[in-house]
Amino acid sequence: MSKTEKKNILVHTCCGPCCTHVFQYLAENNFTPYGFFYNPNIHPLDEYQTRLEELISFAEIRGYPLILKEDPVDTWFEQVRGLEDCPEGGKRCQICYKIRLEETAKYASKSDFDTFTTVLTVSPHKNTQIINSIGIELANKYSLNFLEADFKKNNGFKKSIELSRKYNMYRQNYCGCIYSISSDK
Ligand code: SF4
Repeated sequence: MSKTEKKNILVHTCCGPCCTHVFQYLAENNFTPYGFFYNPNIHPLDEYQTRLEELISFAEIRGYPLILKEDPVDTWFEQVRGLEDCPEGGKRCQICYKIRLEETAKYASKSDFDTFTTVLTVSPHKNTQIINSIGIELANKYSLNFLEADFKKNNGFKKSIELSRKYNMYRQNYCGCIYSISSDK
């Protein structure tokens, strides 16, 4: 790939603030990022809509293409049944990462993308090693490339907060599901 030739990458996105630094970083490193929003783990509905609207607004203003896939939350709840009391970062979260990354991989494999990744590793609350290993497993399953990354590195998380403030964005104070509301993340 020449220096000027950018590569399309499908990027699982959970919210606007997490995209700020990651999308900028990817754009500066020879990628054209396409956001893919698939997050049936975000509850309640008004919080889901707030995060989605914030993301849509960010993508429009910054000129990033965004693909939305919205499903009822029932399947997500079924898949994490019995894990309601797991601490954040545990088994429930691993299933949750996989649900969202698998939908991203499926979309990539039936579209014109050969590479995908996720913004999730920008959060200091997320285990980068687990997320990357899920990404690689799915890449093998769907014959894709997964961009392994740790976007929180080199002050990535700090930069995402600074950019979110600069763009005057709404930033949530918990991960997403109803079980994480009291964990104040
Ligand atoms: S805490 Fe976050 S990652 Fe874990 S299950 Fe809930 S929404 Fe998913």
